[in-house]
Amino acid sequence: MTVPRSVLFSPEHEEFRGTVRRFVDKEIRPNVEQWEEEEQFPRELFLRFGSLDLLGLQYPEAYGGTGAGILYEAVLFEELGRCGSGGVAAGIGAHVAIATPPIFHFGSEEQRRRWLKPAISGHLVAALGVTEPSGGSDIAHVESTARREGDTYILNGTKIFITNGVHADLVVVLARTTPEGGHHGLSLLVVEKNTPGFTVGRKLKKLGWRASDTAELVFQDCRVPVANRLGKENEGFQMVVANFQWERLWIAIMAVEEAQRSLELAMEYAANRVQFGKTLASMPVIRHKIADMALAVQQARHLTYHALWLHSQGVRCTKEVSMAKIAATEADVRVADQALQIHGGYGYMMEYPIQRAWRDARLGPIGAGTNEIMREIIAKELDL
Ligand SMILES: Cc1cc2nc3c(=O)[nH]c(=O)nc-3n(C[C@H](O)[C@H](O)[C@H](O)COP(=O)(O)OP(=O)(O)OC[C@H]3O[C@@H](n4cnc5c(N)ncnc54)[C@H](O)[C@@H]3O)c2cc1C
Repeated sequence: MTVPRSVLFSPEHEEFRGTVRRFVDKEIRPNVEQWEEEEQFPRELFLRFGSLDLLGLQYPEAYGGTGAGILYEAVLFEELGRCGSGGVAAGIGAHVAIATPPIFHFGSEEQRRRWLKPAISGHLVAALGVTEPSGGSDIAHVESTARREGDTYILNGTKIFITNGVHADLVVVLARTTPEGGHHGLSLLVVEKNTPGFTVGRKLKKLGWRASDTAELVFQDCRVPVANRLGKENEGFQMVVANFQWERLWIAIMAVEEAQRSLELAMEYAANRVQFGKTLASMPVIRHKIADMALAVQQARHLTYHALWLHSQGVRCTKEVSMAKIAATEADVRVADQALQIHGGYGYMMEYPIQRAWRDARLGPIGAGTNEIMREIIAKELDL
């Protein structure tokens, strides 16, 4: 009997997994090399995900979602984690996990119909713009300003490292609406493409996640209607923080599956590579290395599933999510590194997928709040 993945998932979840996996195997995996080379995937992919009802798993049917729930979305992230391109998983994931949630949770009915509906169908691509050149960890330090003039905000500033930034039809931007007040003076504004004063500064070249489009965005006297503000003025910081746990779980869930794939690549290589007249897989040092890699993946998976379960039950689990994010992303980095080592010189070559897994893994400890910040959160949660 096959050991079930987790008690978290029902037979219906596993059936859904099978559908997503077949789609990924047929329509994503074969194109990954080309999209990585081109440093972007086609925006039509959003439409394809939308047509398969994969962009609104947590959202109600009224907006085109399926209302399937958080565990189905977790399954989607797991399967994207296995697609062979961190960039594809990041682009789709950023749209689903970080850019649309503020619109759903804090947008008015009119705003949801205007932006969330087309985002769920894949006709509209969304991005979240929080990080600035002057800093990503210290969010309260946001320097972009949105000065109110009647029914308009005049937005000035620069956002950096924004996933989907080049192709986005809208960016949910965190900006300062009150000069004083630190994190109390920030608001969330939806800035639509073609708004005068909004330009893509440059598309950024990256170590990994190459198939995702990552941009610097510039706002120069950009006039944003007050009607485009999500929620109340000066409550933007709380709105961004509200989605942190899901954002970090997304990164953790993806990292566990990426690590699992690196483990499988290493096992396959070790089973076929012969040195000193025997396969690598028969050598004790390699066998133990692989056993340790499998252990690291399983430990990360259990911590991640525990946090996912707590979150799915509506339990406050800041500490558990932070731990899962550290465990999963650091396991991903370590396992990819060991897997590359097992490949020897071939692992260093571009035609071997492990080199990309190794490059893609490195973002995990940096994105969605660095692992240093995660450790600080854990220490605080421990009342240190
Ligand atoms: C490929 C990619 C995609 C991204 N996508 C998005 C996106 O879509 N939207 C978005 O808004 N942002 C995005 N980011 C930004 C990402 O969230 C930030 O890079 C991250 O939060 C870190 O911010 P920073 O780069 O300014 O580093 P810094 O905050 O300058 O940190 C530099 C180093 O100092 C450490 N450090 C900082 N403060 C402390 C402290 N108090 N204690 C201990 N150590 C500390 C950090 O851990 C880190 O190691 C993306 C980044 C990348 C690379």
